[in-house]
Amino acid sequence: MIERKTLDERQQMTDLERLRHSCAHVMATAICRLWPDVQLAAGPPVENGFYYDMDLAHRITPEDFPRIEEEMKRVVKDNDPFERVTISRDEALALAKAGRLGAVAGREVTSIFKLDLLDSIPADEEISIFKNGDFWDLCAGPHVGRTGNCKAFKLMSIASSYYKGDKDRASLQRLYGTCFKNSTELQDHLTRLEEAKKRDHRRLGKELGLFHIDEAVGQGLILWKPKGALVRRALQEFITEQLDKQGYSQVYTPHIGKLELYRTSGHFPYYQESQYPPIAERDVLERLADENATCGELLNGLASGAFEGYLLKPMNCPHHIKIYASDPHSYRDLPVRLAEFGTVYRWEQSGELGGMTRVRGFTQDDAHLFCTPDQVAAEVAGCLDLVKKVLGTLGMNDYRVRLSLRDPESDKYVGDAENWDKAEAALRAAVQTLGVEYTEELGEAAFYGPKIDFVVKDVIGREWQLGTVQVDYNLPVRFDLTYVGADNQTHRPVMIHRAPFGSLERFTGLLIEHFEGKFPVWLAPEQVRVIPISEKTLEAAEAAAAQLADAGIRVAVDRTNDKIGAKIRLARLDRVPYMIVLGAREVEDGTVSIRHRDNEDLTTQPLADFIATLREEIRSRSL
Ligand SMILES: [Zn+2]
Ligand SMILES: [Zn+2]
Repeated sequence: MIERKTLDERQQMTDLERLRHSCAHVMATAICRLWPDVQLAAGPPVENGFYYDMDLAHRITPEDFPRIEEEMKRVVKDNDPFERVTISRDEALALAKAGRLGAVAGREVTSIFKLDLLDSIPADEEISIFKNGDFWDLCAGPHVGRTGNCKAFKLMSIASSYYKGDKDRASLQRLYGTCFKNSTELQDHLTRLEEAKKRDHRRLGKELGLFHIDEAVGQGLILWKPKGALVRRALQEFITEQLDKQGYSQVYTPHIGKLELYRTSGHFPYYQESQYPPIAERDVLERLADENATCGELLNGLASGAFEGYLLKPMNCPHHIKIYASDPHSYRDLPVRLAEFGTVYRWEQSGELGGMTRVRGFTQDDAHLFCTPDQVAAEVAGCLDLVKKVLGTLGMNDYRVRLSLRDPESDKYVGDAENWDKAEAALRAAVQTLGVEYTEELGEAAFYGPKIDFVVKDVIGREWQLGTVQVDYNLPVRFDLTYVGADNQTHRPVMIHRAPFGSLERFTGLLIEHFEGKFPVWLAPEQVRVIPISEKTLEAAEAAAAQLADAGIRVAVDRTNDKIGAKIRLARLDRVPYMIVLGAREVEDGTVSIRHRDNEDLTTQPLADFIATLREEIRSRSL
């Protein structure tokens, strides 16, 4: 196949990739048997499966899948060995011209894509073909032993593609499949896919009116709609409450900062590819326009410091550092804990963007702690307490932690060895108090300090990488931060960066999928929907809603003329936790009928009683 990798990369192919790559040959064999005129192009393994690109007169549809799978089963049953044969370039060219590559025996039309591919193989490189039965293909491998190893497979989808991804070249059909070691693993994968589809936050975000991404605003830029904003606000309030209890101070900082600030921090120009381009001062722009300077000259000038400019902030640290540095500090003031829901901007490649999980502007639950070396242990432990509390409240108790330590052999690290030892021991001790699984990774620490990362497993078993707690010995030096110790001498504080949930965008995306849009009451954008049975009780419904709103409950009234069944269905679709149904009898009795989104039972009680119970449910953030 034409996914060309160096020998090293090839040997790194995992067992599963090797199996899937082999299954692509099984699929190709079946296709060649069914449609001998097919022209096969590339067929690499991809995440969760494999595909094969082909030029075929017959337009493949999902209706063809059973038939192709039947043929694949026969190829598997043949149990032919995958046999590697090295040949000379001339032999390979002759085989391609004879139509014998990417084909079963008997075809006499030139293998056009294989011929083209041979052209791009460097002259000094060995050419190999792989054979299974009478299917031969130009391929570097590797493969499993026999076709019989590919037992648990399934065709997934068909899409269109272009030869070598170039839209000026031949338009092809791309057939996707997947393959696992056994049918249990395949079935688990298919179930997970089904669940993931049901929970996809991009679809639910749209259906539930939580957020919007608009091409006119830009890719990867999340517009929080009113309902999504309510979820975010409830989440921020919850986190803020915890930060208040832990002695954090809230700060606000602007979205841009001078380039000089980022030169000092070392973020500019070194991370230019992940930052938005700098903005020049207006007078610089005017002067350069007069001089007819090019864009490149402008950027070079900004990078070298010849012109002053601003950067859209890629992180909040330098701003917080300047707040710390704006006052003298004694050891008695430490630790200083500065927290901000700080919005930052980073340039992600557009191919990597998707929903709320890969974005270009996002708000971190950020904070920077400035402390003495002796306080690192307690501060890190405090950060982990916060994570435990927040994840526990959301019912996410399945997570693991990665502890990144320095490579003891290397000398690339800043800060003295004694402090590193202390910090690493402190992080390890803090992680152990969590009582969750953790791994230690030597050599994975940044040059400026060790760190802890969180990986959360959602209800369907997928892992989400959240935020980090990172010790930093570097920035306090670069910004010459100090405090006066008990000995009256000047000392260097240690800095801790922590954004345990990463960003509110990503975390909310995770929450939407975790809860399948059914947020617990305290997070639900609409907590109660009041549904009058008919127009006759609409007025009473409005009055009940006013009472609920007065008690601080997020409520809406269904004012449509739909039948009661349709109104209840809609409220359920909208994932509203509670519905209050109001008919003539309830109005007469001074009660309301309450229905929860997840069950059919109705309870009837006075509205005031329901309000009291609900307020307690919200206050305690019950699940
Ligand atoms: Zn192959
Ligand atoms: Zn930071």
